[in-house]
Amino acid sequence: MAAAVKAEAYGHGLVRAARALSADAFAVACLEEALTLREAGIVQPILLLEGVFEATELPLCARHDVQIAVHHPEQVLMLERARLDRPVRVWLKLDSGMHRLGLEPETAPAIFQRLRDCPAVAPNLGWMSHLARADERDCDDTRGQLQTFETATAGLPGERSLANSAGILGWPQTHFDWVRPGLMLYGASPFVDSLAADEDLRPVMTFHTRLIAIKRLRKGEPVGYGGTWHCPEDMDVGVAAAGYGDGYPRHAPSGTPVLLHGREAPLIGRVSMDMITVDLRGHPEARIEDRVTLWGGGGLPVERIAQSAGTIAYPLLCGITARVRREVIDFPVVE
Ligand SMILES: *Cc1c(COP(=O)(O)O)cnc(C)c1O
Repeated sequence: MAAAVKAEAYGHGLVRAARALSADAFAVACLEEALTLREAGIVQPILLLEGVFEATELPLCARHDVQIAVHHPEQVLMLERARLDRPVRVWLKLDSGMHRLGLEPETAPAIFQRLRDCPAVAPNLGWMSHLARADERDCDDTRGQLQTFETATAGLPGERSLANSAGILGWPQTHFDWVRPGLMLYGASPFVDSLAADEDLRPVMTFHTRLIAIKRLRKGEPVGYGGTWHCPEDMDVGVAAAGYGDGYPRHAPSGTPVLLHGREAPLIGRVSMDMITVDLRGHPEARIEDRVTLWGGGGLPVERIAQSAGTIAYPLLCGITARVRREVIDFPVVE
């Protein structure tokens, strides 16, 4: 299993997550992430999912034992021109139908031969591809990608890797030799129609802040930038200290829930950089300094916030900004 720890391990901290995960290997998006892991003393294999961006990265990959995807003929040329102290392990990335990165499957045997003859490439070539629609439960395109990948690699030696989280959970036929989970490791569901709990996953991240003001407003008074929300009656409005400057989605509309004393309260008005406002009509017990959970905490799946804000869990988890204090607590192991 190669754990995807790119993008600061989906916002959980690259090195922290790599140390906490029992993974056979790690997958990252760029050399900087790989080198950060090596500097932190991570010894497992590390794979650059998009390979090198320029030829000058190749000697660093060789020196720090970083494996690379090769998804483009240009990257093959870089390897053929490179003079490395030791060879790098290469994963041939095929375009099985996503049409983003990947070699044309028909070119695979010829490129395989070229790389086998290339002194910069280690002999144990692997095969990979990426699924575009595995988050859909039933999808002909996914079956097509699987078929294309199998056909292109049939009879050729080398380990194979296809599945992301959605493939792992929803498409067992896609598992092959190496799976590449990302999102599911952090306890969120990759499917639009399920929550972490439905997939037997437990959220790792809880994002919370405090109530910093409670205001009594009169019927008809507007709240926040643009005055997009008006009090339907005399009521208390709470101000919580988190906004898009912390990674809370600016497009979360009025009605998006937060948790206060374990119960939901709806966000009202626009999300600002440092604050959100909350309807306290159902929470007469609310006091300044009370904890406000924005997602996680057992009761508020990040998938719900994503859905409300018209996005997916991935960018919410990745988007927590640097100023948010990280606190690591032990994760209770459930048998
Ligand atoms: C990010 C990534 C993964 C992990 O995807 P999840 O949907 O988070 O499981 C796997 N493979 C590749 C190529 C990726 O870029």
